[in-house]
Amino acid sequence: MILYAYELNGNRVFIENAEPGQLYYCEECGTKLIPKNRGFIKEHHYAHYPDKEYSYLQEECTRRNDMRNANQMSEWHKYWQGRYPKDQIEKVFKKDGKVFRADVFLPKRKTVIEFQHSFLPKEQFSARNQFYTSLGFNVVWVYDFDELNGYYMYIYPDKFDDFIIRFRKENQKVYAMDKEKYYSLFGEWKPKDTPKVSLLFTRTYGEYKFYQRVCAVTGSFQNDYPITLFVDDLREVNFLMRIGL
Ligand SMILES: [Zn+2]
Repeated sequence: MILYAYELNGNRVFIENAEPGQLYYCEECGTKLIPKNRGFIKEHHYAHYPDKEYSYLQEECTRRNDMRNANQMSEWHKYWQGRYPKDQIEKVFKKDGKVFRADVFLPKRKTVIEFQHSFLPKEQFSARNQFYTSLGFNVVWVYDFDELNGYYMYIYPDKFDDFIIRFRKENQKVYAMDKEKYYSLFGEWKPKDTPKVSLLFTRTYGEYKFYQRVCAVTGSFQNDYPITLFVDDLREVNFLMRIGL
């Protein structure tokens, strides 16, 4: 969902402040946008204004945004992103011909926060980590664990009060698919090798909310089964602090 555009004078305009008849441009591909924030449109947004000359740019930009939309439509994503000031969300960064739009950017901490509700290919996970860290930023991923839980992982306390995440293996069919997806989630990512990138989970158990941080990985993401992640339980206040709230 494109929520920000720029005007010719360089001003950044939130969709709710866009005026009919004004010219707006896409922060990612630079082509013309029209505001869709009138009448019966439920989710106000900007849309690319079809331009033959730049259709290749627009198509690529739309493809990139479609993937983000699937994630951003969730109530979970809206809830978390909605807790930040408007000028900290949907920030676009460009370098060496690459363009990424961060869910949240905390300028004082130089930290990008990505809220991930839906499946994200490991290539994207790695690409964003590489891109943002090359700009000198920290990256904090917050995953909706409830969403992950149903598909391929469960979490339980072991005797040392650490939490371990393992593959669920209830039937062979699900397992094969889950394994593939699980690998695809984080690729070769290891917390200790990448101090600028951290991974947090939220989950709900009945009325209780849990906030957790992955602090170690055992086993290999490539070959071994089962793969375990060691997870810290965070108090809500610590979790919120980590994500700048
Ligand atoms: Zn665009």
